[in-house]
Amino acid sequence: MKALVFHGPGQKSWMEKAKPTLVQPTDAIVRVTHTTICGTDLHILKGDVPEVESGRTLGHEGTGVVEAVGAGVTNFKPGDRVLISCITACGRCPNCKKQLYAHCADGGWILGHLIDGTQAEYVRIPHADNSLYPVPADADEEALVMLSDIFPTGFEIGVLAGEVKPGDTVAIVGAGPVGMATLLTAQFYSPARLIMIDLDPARLETARQFGATDLVNAGSEDAVARIMALTGGRGVDVSIEAVGVPATFDVCQRIVCAGGHIANVGVHGKSVDLQLQDLWIKNITLTTGLVTTRTTPILLQTVQAGRVDPAKLVTHRFALDQIMQAYEVFANAAREKAIKVILKA
Ligand code: NAD
Ligand code: ZN
Repeated sequence: MKALVFHGPGQKSWMEKAKPTLVQPTDAIVRVTHTTICGTDLHILKGDVPEVESGRTLGHEGTGVVEAVGAGVTNFKPGDRVLISCITACGRCPNCKKQLYAHCADGGWILGHLIDGTQAEYVRIPHADNSLYPVPADADEEALVMLSDIFPTGFEIGVLAGEVKPGDTVAIVGAGPVGMATLLTAQFYSPARLIMIDLDPARLETARQFGATDLVNAGSEDAVARIMALTGGRGVDVSIEAVGVPATFDVCQRIVCAGGHIANVGVHGKSVDLQLQDLWIKNITLTTGLVTTRTTPILLQTVQAGRVDPAKLVTHRFALDQIMQAYEVFANAAREKAIKVILKA
């Protein structure tokens, strides 16, 4: 089969590789029908994620058709259409029982990270019963592939952890795929205002089309001053960090109102300047964490009910074997006006 293989920092190729086989009785082999490229793949390629070994097939988002299952798989059979979770987890260990799937005692593997991923014609899915979701016959797979990672991330770590409520003023810093997924899923809870902050005017304009009520360009204006002015000096009820740099975490600390909530989604990779005294005096709650994908089935229902359309984020489409070209586009997302790039087998 063909797969997109990482060969160390800065190097990748679309190459022939052995088709995966069943290793454990709980495994499934899935023929990939749709996959995407995520910002995390670019971080791996830059060498920012040293635990990813040379030879690894990248990619952790996808849909497909079950090709084979081990004897221990009970929920799926060959021919079933499936949505692939970015995390594979046993579903039975103490952490899985708390739905902390990224911390599974026998897994917690992120596809395309510690095990081979979805940017390939076939992928092995460990703990298939808990790591795949059935796809309704009439589902739009372009929408569903957004539920492998970015939608549950924005929803769980941004909206649910941040406890967005009706009437709230919510600020989201970062209008990338994760920030956009946060913007779309925050609307389930009818916040009164949804302020989007980014540096890219085109992404801000897209955020307006997706329901942002106020736009702040942090490149051309003082984001904190503008948000304080927009909120009459009070600040926002919930500030959601979806970039992953110290400066945007700091903005989130400074714009949150007394009794408010900071939900950190971004992966910082290094420490940030935590203003604990300010958070203490303002009774602020700070939450953060890894996506679990426990909400993927709920999101699937909302998509099928027509309450949200994640396919809105898809700006570019390629055949799977054009993935090298797709990486070029995604790596130059601002110039190419790309949000999500879909690969179809
Ligand atoms: P992205 O890089 O595609 O988008 C980030 C956006 O932030 C861009 O639109 C960029 O213009 C904007 N930005 C950059 N610097 C800024 C600044 N100073 N002020 C305002 N805006 C700024 O990233 P993404 O794929 O959308 O992911 C967002 C973050 O979420 C990343 O840190 C990613 O690693 C993280 N993430 C976390 C989890 C989790 O489990 N918590 C899961 C997936 C992704
Ligand atoms: Zn487990």
